[in-house]
Amino acid sequence: MSQKNKEPIISIRSLRHSYLEGETMKEVLHSVDLDFYEGEIVIIMGPSGSGKSTLLKIIGAQLTLQEGDVRIGDCNLSGATQKDLMKIRRRLGFIFQSHHLLDSISVLQNVQLPLAFDETITSAISKERALNALAMVGIDSQAYKKPSKLSGGQRQRVAIARALIRKPAIVLADEPTASLDEKSGREVVEIIRKMAKDMGVTVVLVTHDNRILDIADRIVSLVDGKIRD
Ligand code: ADP
Ligand code: MG
Repeated sequence: MSQKNKEPIISIRSLRHSYLEGETMKEVLHSVDLDFYEGEIVIIMGPSGSGKSTLLKIIGAQLTLQEGDVRIGDCNLSGATQKDLMKIRRRLGFIFQSHHLLDSISVLQNVQLPLAFDETITSAISKERALNALAMVGIDSQAYKKPSKLSGGQRQRVAIARALIRKPAIVLADEPTASLDEKSGREVVEIIRKMAKDMGVTVVLVTHDNRILDIADRIVSLVDGKIRD
């Protein structure tokens, strides 16, 4: 599939990022250039500490851009207002290593959470959409249980359903298989791949798990804060 003539949906240029360590700034991303195209699944591989989570958090507008250019769709992160950042975050779905589910509410309610502040969506529609999202990941039968009653793989599937509920254009996944055994990890990445292809979602997945590389359309290596081809 040639993407060469298309505009990337995410475009990163000369991105640098530093953290304050003691009294000195330590640079962890060193002039990263990367493009991601609509509908593709890209895996960013790299050892622990190479800057993968930092990169994903910057793309997700969770960490403030320090230096360089990041464009998500038609929004530039540099100079973006709080309102622009909200707009960007609404187009994204997040899947983390630990699924961040609330155990005081049901699986269904967890999936509905991203819709809770959207007054254009009635509770009936929200429930229907959440049940559909749970059906897509194959666990609608668990909807009324508490997350703690589910297996690790099932909980990660709930997190995927929650990431999809707003029909995002882009899904960012940070080590989604890290806390799972091989079989559950495989099921989870197959679901991510299927939903990406069915819904035309762009997926940026960071991992150091080389057992899941085959789901990617493209693999990028990040080593010591630099892209390596
Ligand atoms: P990865 O996800 O590839 O393991 P990270 O992006 O989490 O890498 O971290 C890259 C480097 O930045 C590591 O050396 C890490 O210790 C450092 N780092 C990450 N977050 C912070 C932080 N909030 N403050 C200071 N240093 C950090
Ligand atoms: Mg990380």
